[in-house]
Amino acid sequence: MSERFDVIVVGAGPGGMAAAVLAAEAGKNVCLLDENPAPGGQIWRGYERESEALSPHRMEFLRWRRRLSATGCAVWNEARVLAAPQRNMLRVERQSQCIDLSYGKLILATGARERFLPFPGWTLPGVVGAGGLQSFLKSGLDVRGQRVVLAGSGPLLLAVAASLTRAGAHVLLIAEQASRHTLVHLGLHLAKLLPGKLMEGATCRWQTRKTPYRQDAWVVRAEGRERLERVTVRVSGKEEQMECDWLACAYHLVPNLELPLLLGCAVENGAVVVDEQQRSSVEDVLCIGELTGVGGLDKALVEGQIAGNHAAGRTTQAYELVPELRKHRQFVHLLEEAFALRAELRSLAMPETIVCRCEDVTREKLEACDSWRAAKLHTRCGMGSCQGRICGAATEFLYGWDAHSARPPVMPARVSSLAGEEERGS
Ligand SMILES: Cc1cc2nc3c(=O)[nH]c(=O)nc-3n(C[C@H](O)[C@H](O)[C@H](O)COP(=O)(O)OP(=O)(O)OC[C@H]3O[C@@H](n4cnc5c(N)ncnc54)[C@H](O)[C@@H]3O)c2cc1C
Repeated sequence: MSERFDVIVVGAGPGGMAAAVLAAEAGKNVCLLDENPAPGGQIWRGYERESEALSPHRMEFLRWRRRLSATGCAVWNEARVLAAPQRNMLRVERQSQCIDLSYGKLILATGARERFLPFPGWTLPGVVGAGGLQSFLKSGLDVRGQRVVLAGSGPLLLAVAASLTRAGAHVLLIAEQASRHTLVHLGLHLAKLLPGKLMEGATCRWQTRKTPYRQDAWVVRAEGRERLERVTVRVSGKEEQMECDWLACAYHLVPNLELPLLLGCAVENGAVVVDEQQRSSVEDVLCIGELTGVGGLDKALVEGQIAGNHAAGRTTQAYELVPELRKHRQFVHLLEEAFALRAELRSLAMPETIVCRCEDVTREKLEACDSWRAAKLHTRCGMGSCQGRICGAATEFLYGWDAHSARPPVMPARVSSLAGEEERGS
């Protein structure tokens, strides 16, 4: 089965929604597809069902949702892009079917994931990703009265702490590895560049004011028999122990580069290289949002509008947004500087600590390897079901390995889809 669209947008987060709306409003035949059951991406996940009190930005989501519905754009939920079998063609799995979609322009908006670093006890039940715990919350997890410690780095920690607090959790501590000095520096720059972002951070902090927010702080170990019972945190050089039900960690975010890499887009410093019209190094392929550098919701929306306009041939409208875009690109660099990971975090994992949890590969086994490829070949690190999505980013930090590689299928696929692919390929 095959279909053709003028513009295909992969990823229905804020960036993808904005791109699809602008291209479709300009009269293009657009398909917006995402593996999730509804548009919204990470930040707007579950916003259809939630109240304004629980969900900041909900009104903004509803505005984009309304515009999207009014355009008549094809919205394919639960559709995963698996491969790119030919130039200007994607292979998509949707409702047990494998479909080849061809396009005039492709806009990739596949977002980012959390970086998780290994430390003793990180694989215990009850230790989760910060955004992961937020997703459980949005899917109905009752956290009222639950004791949570948040640890890692980046603005996501404060945003998740605020969501958990609003939902009635008892957030005991936010442990931020960055120093107080770098955060003050970030705040001063933001006050001039994007004061709205500073206000957003201040609002989250106000909502979590009963929780200590410690800088120069990180989790050293997590312990428990069947599941997590306590964590040890190093705060300004001293170790503290606390009993808790959940430990939610995220060491900033890393872009989901699998699809851009598969298509051959140039990548530098962990992000896709694009110009001010969001064009990648591959003809007809534009990239937006977290893929081009982790910069949050507003950056994704601006880049989405630029790409949507550009794909529809409205370059004047696209160029009008460039001054705004430049501010958001500066914001990306400020975040990278402020939340750069400190070297001490490299020594948290002990020889017996698991680094690749899919294949049970310990740090000790990785020490003998000199590259990501060697680690894959000799230890099966990164060869399990997550295909290196978690341990790849961790080993990049631990050993400086380049763990970026992609081959089809870029997402887990049904056997029948894979069989379909073989039949077509033969
Ligand atoms: C777990 C998590 C939680 C977050 N929570 C917050 C928060 O509370 N507050 C905040 O300010 N920021 C949060 N962020 C950051 C926020 O996600 C981004 O700032 C913003 O959503 C960026 O939008 P985007 O359009 O670039 O990508 P995203 O919103 O990440 O959307 C990308 C979409 O692409 C889809 N996708 C990826 N690959 C494929 C494929 N091959 N086929 C089909 N679909 C695909 C994904 O399912 C996803 O829906 C969070 C990030 C993460 C990773």
